[in-house]
Amino acid sequence: MKTVVILGSTGSIGTNTLDIVQRFPGEFRVAGLTAGSNDEVLEQQIRTFRPRLVAMSNESAAAKLRQRCSGLGVEILSGQEGLVQVASAPEADLVVSAIVGGAGLLPTLAAIRAKKHVALANKEPMVMAGKLMQEEARRHGVRIFPVDSEHSAIFQSLEGHRLVDVRRLILTASGGALWPLSKEELQDVTPERALQHPNWKMGSKITIDSATLMNKGLEVVEARWLFDIPESRIDVLIHRESIIHSLVEYEDRSMIAQLGLPDMRTPISYAMRYPERLPLDLPSLDLTEVGKLSFCKPDHERFPCLGLGYESLRVGGTMPATMNAANEIAVDAFLNGGIRFTAIAEIIRSTMDAHQTKDVDTIDTALEADRWAREKAESLVLALAR
Ligand code: NAD
Ligand code: MG
Repeated sequence: MKTVVILGSTGSIGTNTLDIVQRFPGEFRVAGLTAGSNDEVLEQQIRTFRPRLVAMSNESAAAKLRQRCSGLGVEILSGQEGLVQVASAPEADLVVSAIVGGAGLLPTLAAIRAKKHVALANKEPMVMAGKLMQEEARRHGVRIFPVDSEHSAIFQSLEGHRLVDVRRLILTASGGALWPLSKEELQDVTPERALQHPNWKMGSKITIDSATLMNKGLEVVEARWLFDIPESRIDVLIHRESIIHSLVEYEDRSMIAQLGLPDMRTPISYAMRYPERLPLDLPSLDLTEVGKLSFCKPDHERFPCLGLGYESLRVGGTMPATMNAANEIAVDAFLNGGIRFTAIAEIIRSTMDAHQTKDVDTIDTALEADRWAREKAESLVLALAR
């Protein structure tokens, strides 16, 4: 029996995680849940899973939840402080990190410092401070298990092999909702159009990141720190069907890949129960039905954000954190109708150009770069506002 805490339990990854918990009542017990502001969904989850401790980052949502859940024996905390407290709940063995964005950095770090293993979906903290997070995990004797489907595929393809034999990691990318569009067509894309992902149903931020290919840029940085491999040995391959979730090439030119129908419950359950595999009652991948798989190279001209991910790693230090923060601001502005789709990449580019990078020797340095980049990107959004 594993005792788990789920950070971001009301989101796409969070609800998929609770689906696994519900399917295997003998395997998991829920000690804590957190959410941003969706008190209605969180209330339902409290009634179903009976955690001891919950937190909401939004104070007024937490107050509403306290009224509705009085008598249920649950302690309801709020704010960043509350999230950190739930993330370090003494009875938890494993923390599923599934908040979206840099907001997950301090709670995830708190979990590591409280000696919890982490199942990591929330990739942005790895982009902001991946090296420090890995150092903290080593220092506290815990592991960070990837949930992101590509990183789970690589993790699975590395099992039983020696890291010194790895030639390169190959991350696959669906290309997102807008892959077929021309450069001109991309100018006038609406948020509704960009949110129509062909293969995955996910939160809105990551769905826009998939459409710009920034998601793959973030994943290159995530892979660099999860697997301790330099960016020069990480490649990206467009694979529209999302059946091969990623590959590892070894020195003898053998390639090992992990395949499956796109369903996040597979990588989530692997991260939660590693090295065991839970008998998930899901449809099997039928390759005769798929028939053909297709591959092509990424297009950096139409989708410059992938290149920014590589560039942020080559510059190093606080540059990935800067890129990530500018992206969060720009995606938000696009979703709110404030800027054009193509302005997302422009805002990130300009913010990175204006940034003077520093070594990330403490979390505060990463957080300071994050704050600086948010302000810079906000001012660029205002200047571009339609
Ligand atoms: P989502 O928007 O569906 O859910 C986000 C969760 O975080 C919600 O519970 C929300 O209440 C909470 N939250 C939002 N802002 C917060 C804040 N400021 N403070 C505290 N909590 C906050 O997002 P998602 O699609 O589940 O993605 C979560 C993370 O997992 C992201 O980093 C994403 O890149 C990563 N990821 C998601 C998928 C997927 O299939 N959805 C796949 C791979 C990686
Ligand atoms: Mg992914």
